[in-house]
Amino acid sequence: MDASLRQLLEKMPKAELHMHIEGSLEPELIFALAERNGVTLKYSSVDELRRAYAFTDLQSFLDIYYAGASVLLKEQDFYDMTRAYLGRAHADNVRHAELFFDPQTHTERGVDFGTVISGIHRALQDAATEWGMSGALIMCFLRHLSEEDAFATLEQALPYRDKFIGVGLDSSERGHPPEKFARVFARCRELGLRLVAHAGEEGPPEYIRTALDVLKVERIDHGVRCLEDAELTQRLARDKVPLTVCPLSNVKLRVFDRAADHNLQRLLDAGLTVTINSDDPAYFGGYVNDNFTEMFSVLPLDQRHARQLARDSFAASFLPEQDKRRLMAEVDAFFAQ
Ligand SMILES: [Zn+2]
Repeated sequence: MDASLRQLLEKMPKAELHMHIEGSLEPELIFALAERNGVTLKYSSVDELRRAYAFTDLQSFLDIYYAGASVLLKEQDFYDMTRAYLGRAHADNVRHAELFFDPQTHTERGVDFGTVISGIHRALQDAATEWGMSGALIMCFLRHLSEEDAFATLEQALPYRDKFIGVGLDSSERGHPPEKFARVFARCRELGLRLVAHAGEEGPPEYIRTALDVLKVERIDHGVRCLEDAELTQRLARDKVPLTVCPLSNVKLRVFDRAADHNLQRLLDAGLTVTINSDDPAYFGGYVNDNFTEMFSVLPLDQRHARQLARDSFAASFLPEQDKRRLMAEVDAFFAQ
């Protein structure tokens, strides 16, 4: 890739809207936290753990992801994990980050909900103070668990309502359609929470449709399989429903065989509102700028696409309108230089 295009991608202001904070745990930090907390890992070294990151599908990744998260016990652990991610995002010129967290991964191990959210939230506050970087939290329900479990998690979350802005749906998609969570999403909607869901990553386009119609989500996480359904694609374009796309994740989890096979360009050509994100950066080979540079290296994308993706990352965010306008104006000023 052209050096000036690379520099543009790296330096441009951007938002990241699809990343799971537990997926930012680097093997070095997993080992450091394991030692600090006296947790025994089934991997003998950082290298052995990193070698286990050769995934074949979503489930093989999730198995290691949950093992990695087992070292998180105290509020400071959640703070340190979040702080490490935010530092990397800041270096990638991320100006606003909306982070997913998976409380059930921790509460089912006996870690208190308040411990989890307080540590993550404190790191977001420090990033705002030190770097002027805004952030928000979206609580995800694990879709392989029951809707009853999701309701119980929502109950635990309500005393901390001021610390998160919305809810999402993640974990194993196949066999767990959005409509399984119809009632809990309806309740979250009544509570004024913003709604998103993973759909159309490994699951069929139909899951995107039910996420919209039954759960009434405002954004689709992944959604790359929408192109299999022309009518759905037209609807997403017409209604400007953002798709938070994660290219390196899609390649690692074999949604596409190679980066060059990714349908990002076709999504853009279809008039969809698309953003680029890292998903689980420690596990999938890179942070948000790595995702941008990989896609622009292998697909015929240019400066106009870069500008559009940067603007849409803010447009698709849950920031107040005036903040969106200010940040999009910064993107325009950056590209005018
Ligand atoms: Zn995800």
